[in-house]
Amino acid sequence: MSSQDQAGPAPVSAEDLAARFTQAFGSAPDGVWQAPGRVNLIGEHTDYNEGFVLPFAIDRTARVAIAVRQDRTVRLLSTYGDQGVVTTSLDSLEPGTAKGWTKYPLGVMWALRERGIDVPGLDLLLDSTVPLGAGLSSSHAIECAVISALNDLTAAGLGAEEMVLATQRAENDFVGAPTGIMDQSASLRGAKGHAVFLDCRDQKATLVPFETEPAGLVLLVIDTKVSHSHADGGYASRRASCELGAEVLGVKALRDVQVGDLEEAGGLLDEVTFRRVRHVVTENDRVLQTVELLDGPGPVAIGRLLDASHASMRDDFEISCPELDLAVDTSRANGAIGARMTGGGFGGAAIALTPVDAEQKVRAAVAKAFSDAGFTAPEIFTVSPAAGAMRIS
Ligand code: ADP
Ligand code: MG
Repeated sequence: MSSQDQAGPAPVSAEDLAARFTQAFGSAPDGVWQAPGRVNLIGEHTDYNEGFVLPFAIDRTARVAIAVRQDRTVRLLSTYGDQGVVTTSLDSLEPGTAKGWTKYPLGVMWALRERGIDVPGLDLLLDSTVPLGAGLSSSHAIECAVISALNDLTAAGLGAEEMVLATQRAENDFVGAPTGIMDQSASLRGAKGHAVFLDCRDQKATLVPFETEPAGLVLLVIDTKVSHSHADGGYASRRASCELGAEVLGVKALRDVQVGDLEEAGGLLDEVTFRRVRHVVTENDRVLQTVELLDGPGPVAIGRLLDASHASMRDDFEISCPELDLAVDTSRANGAIGARMTGGGFGGAAIALTPVDAEQKVRAAVAKAFSDAGFTAPEIFTVSPAAGAMRIS
């Protein structure tokens, strides 16, 4: 396997994307912007409980070349798929009108217009190296690239916090996905060699050093190819359990419950709700511990917290699945220092923090374990903490 395969596809250069744009639309773009996908290092199902998450921007990006038009036409083209140019008008920009991938750029345009920003007609070409539907937030990579571009092109002057809220509005109300603020916060605020410690109560974000290479580690993503969907009843029922737990315990959100409160909570909650609550409360605590360790000894020290996070999601929150458990267990048995499922659960990807010299062994063992179990072959690749959204040309 070449190192190219392991690092993922190289992005199309800004020059090449501009050339393809010119070929497709007849004149040059005004600029090229990029925004990354993200991996959540730790802090799962804590976001809607007003708790803590610790995602990082990855070295896989969506790039958009955009030219502002003088009329109200919008033309959209992606290098992915074979949909061709989709032409629409600013006048038909309403939730429920857009189809397929165009929901993401059009949702951002709609959300900005809802904020009173005069969004122009435009031509847009997208090229992305963020894999779709693998739990790396390819959708937010698109949205964050587009909002960064429109923020520059309209001189709207939005700060990161406002862009986070606008992309959330786009996902919730235009795309129809009940997502929080984590993904776009990582994509917009990420920095090379850092994770983004995010307080989901007040959006306070702090960069925490997180570099794998100097520690002799790689972060492997194991995409199980098991499809997950937020529309799935599992997500809604977990949210409902958390709301019930907070209500019975008399707090605004589970963020307000501490590990030391759990014993008492056990006497007040039914067995299932208690385990759901225990996951959220201990997971918040694990995020705080991870931040402390990254600030001190570094990533070599966080393996046991990743393992504990996985066990908590498997046993207490019950959102893992056989493929995720196999990916995690096999990685650990073959040299990873910590591993966990990442993302909403019921499928998607696992991450395994692995010493460089164990990488090939873990890859081979996971591939073999999946084949032996009769599971679809997983896709395995490395990611590293990379820069957030920016203009590149
Ligand atoms: P995730 O964000 O976890 O990758 P989503 O279902 O939220 O999964 O977003 C995936 C969707 O984003 C795809 O179905 C597609 O509509 C869109 N998408 C992502 N990348 C591209 C791309 N390069 N070209 C066109 N559409 C894309
Ligand atoms: Mg998404």
